[in-house]
Amino acid sequence: MSADASSRVVAGVDIGGTKTAGALVAADGTVLARASRETPARDGGAAMAETAARVVEELYGRAGVRADAVGVGAAGVVEHDTGTIRAASATFVGWTGFPLGERLAERLSLPVQVENDVNAFLLGETAWGAARGSDVLGVMLGTGVGGALVMDGRLRHGPHGAAGEIGHTPGYGELRCTCGRTGHLETLASGTSIARRYAEATDRPLEPARIVAQRARGGDPAARAVFADAGQAVALACVSAATLVDLPLVVVGGGVVEAWDLLAPAVQTTLASDPPVSGVPLRIVPGTLRADAVVLGAAALVAHPVSVPPAESEPRRDDAS
Ligand SMILES: [Zn+2]
Repeated sequence: MSADASSRVVAGVDIGGTKTAGALVAADGTVLARASRETPARDGGAAMAETAARVVEELYGRAGVRADAVGVGAAGVVEHDTGTIRAASATFVGWTGFPLGERLAERLSLPVQVENDVNAFLLGETAWGAARGSDVLGVMLGTGVGGALVMDGRLRHGPHGAAGEIGHTPGYGELRCTCGRTGHLETLASGTSIARRYAEATDRPLEPARIVAQRARGGDPAARAVFADAGQAVALACVSAATLVDLPLVVVGGGVVEAWDLLAPAVQTTLASDPPVSGVPLRIVPGTLRADAVVLGAAALVAHPVSVPPAESEPRRDDAS
């Protein structure tokens, strides 16, 4: 490890369902090299770890320097103090129980830290993106809705690893959630929900949320309505969270944030009609790192070793992205 923090170089790796992306990052957030490979999600944990290791080695080749440490953002429930995957969706074969942090550290002979990908997204935005500040809620609107919480400059995992889990807060209607409950924020605000609600409202075949966004921009009232519902629900959930713990800022990421122009009007209307009781206005902003947020957040995990939060005991429960 380099003694001088300003010359520290770290690698961030984002292990997603289809792609494993990596970046070699300098202490100031400058990206020195990038590489990516297909994630062998059906071939087991060892194959996925090997792919991540090869992505890091490709980064060395491209940049001509090696990393001092590796941070990983991984889909699934991650035991962040050991880097073991505690639970994952069925698309990841042989991932649950895999000691990712330990295996990668052995393979690369480097310190490795692993976080859930939603936590990594928020760390990226707080380090180098839209959410620079010490108290911020991150909301990731993707296939599902994930959340993460930084307070007093530290990522909060909670006693059960479920802090920030805003996608599964109730009170947003009668639709069935992916978790089996009813009326959760995710049923209105995930990309999957936006696509499904539009198809149901119009009797059209199911299309991706980005196509629904194009229809909304073209003036389709049913498409505009599903984005308005999503924006309102996200803002209400954020106001509730912010009111409880006195947060000034929410940063929103995930694929659906590409349709921020369609979400923002309902978000702003809701913030105006239901502001936090503190009288301090809540800001809800789109992330600026976009598709890079998880990979940069993974790098941020190990970029400033003194700010890495001390281990808590429980894994976080979140695979919403
Ligand atoms: Zn749910």
